[in-house]
Amino acid sequence: MRSLWSDADAAAMIDRYAKDGVNEDVALRVYTSRLLGGDPQLVLHGGGNTSVKTTLVDFLGDEGEVLCVKGSGWDLGDIEPAGLPAVRLAPLRRLRDRASLSDEDMVNFQRANLLDMTSPNPSVETLLHAFLPHKFVDHTHSTAVLSLTDQPDGEAVCAEVFGARMGAVPYIMPGFDLAQKALEVFAQDESVEGLILHKHGVFTFGETAQESYDRMIEMVSLAEARLQQGRKAVFVGAKLPSQIAPATDVAPILRGACALEVDGDYKRMVLDFRTGDTIRTYVDGADVARYSQTGVVTPDHNIRTKNFPLLVPAPAADALDEFKVAVQQAVDRYVADYHVYFARNNVRVGGVKTALDPMPRVALVPGLGLFGIGKSAGEASVAADIAENTVGTITDAEAIGCFDCIPETDMFDIEYWSLEQAKLAKGAEKPMARQVVAVTGGGGGIGAAIAAAFVREGAEVAVLDVDPDAAAKVANRIGGLAVTCDVTSADSVQAAFAAIVARYGGVDVVASNAGAAWQGRIGDVSDATLRQSFELNFFGHQIVAQAAVKIMRAQDTGGGLVFNTSKQAVNPGQDFGPYGLPKAATLSLMRQYAVDHGADGIRANAVNADRIRTGLLDDDMIAARSKARGVSEADYMAGNLLNREVMAEDVADAFVYLAKAAKTTAAVVTVDGGNIAAALR
Ligand code: ZN
Repeated sequence: MRSLWSDADAAAMIDRYAKDGVNEDVALRVYTSRLLGGDPQLVLHGGGNTSVKTTLVDFLGDEGEVLCVKGSGWDLGDIEPAGLPAVRLAPLRRLRDRASLSDEDMVNFQRANLLDMTSPNPSVETLLHAFLPHKFVDHTHSTAVLSLTDQPDGEAVCAEVFGARMGAVPYIMPGFDLAQKALEVFAQDESVEGLILHKHGVFTFGETAQESYDRMIEMVSLAEARLQQGRKAVFVGAKLPSQIAPATDVAPILRGACALEVDGDYKRMVLDFRTGDTIRTYVDGADVARYSQTGVVTPDHNIRTKNFPLLVPAPAADALDEFKVAVQQAVDRYVADYHVYFARNNVRVGGVKTALDPMPRVALVPGLGLFGIGKSAGEASVAADIAENTVGTITDAEAIGCFDCIPETDMFDIEYWSLEQAKLAKGAEKPMARQVVAVTGGGGGIGAAIAAAFVREGAEVAVLDVDPDAAAKVANRIGGLAVTCDVTSADSVQAAFAAIVARYGGVDVVASNAGAAWQGRIGDVSDATLRQSFELNFFGHQIVAQAAVKIMRAQDTGGGLVFNTSKQAVNPGQDFGPYGLPKAATLSLMRQYAVDHGADGIRANAVNADRIRTGLLDDDMIAARSKARGVSEADYMAGNLLNREVMAEDVADAFVYLAKAAKTTAAVVTVDGGNIAAALR
């Protein structure tokens, strides 16, 4: 591993933060923290922590020695001075000689000694940083170091690699006891440049930011060099089916099996697929059931990944039904094992813990790759990142020996640690959290409003549009997935749903919204015009709905189709036959899906929208319609019983309502301000 230290960058960082009144020590602490945090081989997703001991002036103007240490909720990769809360150093050091200190008391005492009470909680490893005398202290979960420590004889391997340069600290859960032990090890030989925390990670320290950082890079490089020696070939491949089903067929099956049924509804998961040579070698290994089921490479990963991934059989392309049964059995077994694990350990700690949900957070699929699993796309992506990192760490550990990790009791204590639980504490989930919604015509005014409304409800949203730029613009604005899709082409729709499944693992709701208006007096209109309109305004809906239903049935967790029909479907406007006829067929299509797929738990409904005022898309269409009806813009509102303009957001609300109405199917909701001629009867 190469040192990324640059004198010029360090000086620039000092200058930049001096403008904000940040001192040189803290500016340099920010600089090297970011160097560490930018490398996933050192630090991932909030892992690791750093500190500097410096002098700051408090509110009263008194100067005092403080520890600026990483605050919880910050990531080293993009840390700012605000992410390094200042804690008075002297009181922290007075804790050194206590016999014991509970985690809650420790957190409270650290907060009570903050210079600024609005700061985040100082890291749970704050006392370890405080007790050591060095000005700069760096801590990472380097994968190379973990590959050495995570061995049955990890201490001996590390002694051989690092010699007397690094102190050896046995595994102890982070907190006061670990801080005391680390200090004790350091006191035995104060010439050490850092500490190896067995089956946890590595600390280095120094009098300057560069010294501490460079020592980290050097120790990691020593570990990397050791991993190149005496490697045995890993892993021997298992015999796999000759044709493996694609990830797009596998993901919905996996996603369905990992959905928790609660009162007839589903708590679904979002998936994130990863693959590549290293992952494939790992998941395809004949011995994968051993090395993948040993445990986590460093304790705090289990908060994001649980202790063990779900392992399923290889999916043969011609035997997906058998695969589906096997996946369900594997998930059932996983959940049952998790309950037993919880009960066994909860008894040990006095029965005070509340069980977390039992679903896996990583799935390994031989022949294919791995999936991160989470309650949101973000969580799934974090789990997948950690899983990829774990694959690398265990591969190296197995190449030089045999992967080993902390025992189950230690893993439980971390997973159910009140301080770690607090990190994950979040407010109540939004109504459509964990659901994947596809919006066709999502780049237009109404589609964009629908997509935004579903994001507000907590859903993961794919914005489909025939215009890639329009899809990207909306997706970027709302934080969704942009997918180019021509709904009149079966191939394009297949590719679009494959992209959605690759990103999220499946689909739960389709807002089938894409459409366009054609006009012409029915006695004169060309066959071509009529067929063109049917392609988009009828077959487009059918192609999309059919592709979605196939995925929904693989998931076996129901689903919702909501079609954008039009008042034309029930109240034909003059010369609007080319538009109204396919829309009438789409209204019937909705009813047919409700009839044929109600037994699958798939609901089909329609929004009958009309006279929508939107500056985004429909002004031209409104003008065209007004013209076709022989009305002027001025009396456009005539016949609107409420005399209130209908906005794209009003239509979007109807889509969201129907997507959530768990006991409603074959319904039409009208959003037009009241048009009695278009009232359904
Ligand atoms: Zn750590």
